[in-house]
Amino acid sequence: MSRKKGGPDIGGIAPEELVRTYGAPLYVYDTAVMERQYKRLSKAFSGADVKFNYACKALTNINVLKFFKNLGSGLDTVSIEEVRIGLKAGFMPEDIIFTPNGVSIAEIIEAAELGVRINIDNLGILEQFAARFGGDYPVCIRLNPHINAGGNSKISVGHIDSKFGISIHQTRHLERLVESLGVKVEGVHMHTGSDILDVEVFLRGAELLLDVARDFPDLKYLDFGSGFKVGYKPGDISTDVEELGTKMTAMFSQFCKEYGRELRLEFEPGKFLVSESGFFLCEVNATKTTTATVFAQVNSGLNHLIRPMFYDAYHHITNVSNPEGKPRVYTVVGYICETDTFASDRLIAEIREGDILAFHNAGAYCFTMSNNYNSRTRPAEVLVHKGEHHLITKRETQEDLLRNQVDLPIFEEKIRT
Ligand SMILES: *Cc1c(COP(=O)(O)O)cnc(C)c1O
Repeated sequence: MSRKKGGPDIGGIAPEELVRTYGAPLYVYDTAVMERQYKRLSKAFSGADVKFNYACKALTNINVLKFFKNLGSGLDTVSIEEVRIGLKAGFMPEDIIFTPNGVSIAEIIEAAELGVRINIDNLGILEQFAARFGGDYPVCIRLNPHINAGGNSKISVGHIDSKFGISIHQTRHLERLVESLGVKVEGVHMHTGSDILDVEVFLRGAELLLDVARDFPDLKYLDFGSGFKVGYKPGDISTDVEELGTKMTAMFSQFCKEYGRELRLEFEPGKFLVSESGFFLCEVNATKTTTATVFAQVNSGLNHLIRPMFYDAYHHITNVSNPEGKPRVYTVVGYICETDTFASDRLIAEIREGDILAFHNAGAYCFTMSNNYNSRTRPAEVLVHKGEHHLITKRETQEDLLRNQVDLPIFEEKIRT
């Protein structure tokens, strides 16, 4: 298909064609971009025995999970529900790591009974886990090195007040517990947050983790989490994974030498693997000129894409219906009865009623954070693979909105005779 100059295509398919087929708003993902990102990481860390566990909370559609499984990826999960979806997608239990925070011991035991790897981030939970399994079920320990990484406080999880991980200042306590409970520690882990730009900051955290790792003799792997940033704005810089790969694998192989054994190097990227693969396509309901602003009002809202309001996230927006239009300044808003701004004062090719706007970087933490606020149905999801498009989540219907509501007979109006 020939594309108008300036109009994005998604895996070779025109966004307008996808909207004609599936309607709008619509999430669309391109597997070629996921594969490119996976291979880029694999190449960057090829100096080590490396394993990537796709952090599936970013985009949890079972087809996406299967796609990553076929690329050789493992899976990072944060709830028992994600664990079950992973198993259903065909991952072997040992290729799934369960990294919950604040869940009950019952949920952790349930995951262990399914045979997945368990990552523990609380000393109290470690005691309860040991009371159940003793030394029979090896665990991974999530440490918090307290390095301050991450662009936004809401997505930075390594700071001192963070609820995540066991503080590295508690390692003495941790070691005592491990020894006296007879727990077998097969992995140590850190995940300091998203959007880490500075390779040196990442390496500093890694060094702290390696320091603790020396004290555990039964290790099989070290998991350095994620936080790889991708570009959102034109001209944005992203994590230099090639530089990180070179430095990290050198540091890691030095560690393995000192440790006396080859270990596996693991990461669990979410955003890096799927963010750029996704586009969110909306239709413009109306434009509205006020005393101060020109608004473009789309048929969606923070119920479908919450990141701009939640994290001040930037999503690049292009007008795919009028790519050659004269750029004008718009504030793009949704239809939700809350302040619901997707983008302020953006230069976008002239927007007309009925135009299709494409929100870029809509692969990670977009559909998975969507909800039914204002009794709106959630959009459909489409996967583009090898030049063909496939529906992977149906658009919700009016019936779906009431599916789990219980309509009590006690409020039926009494019929008087
Ligand atoms: C969310 C999460 C990730 C993925 O983070 P990204 O920034 O999307 O790469 C990795 N590990 C854990 C434990 C997480 O909770």
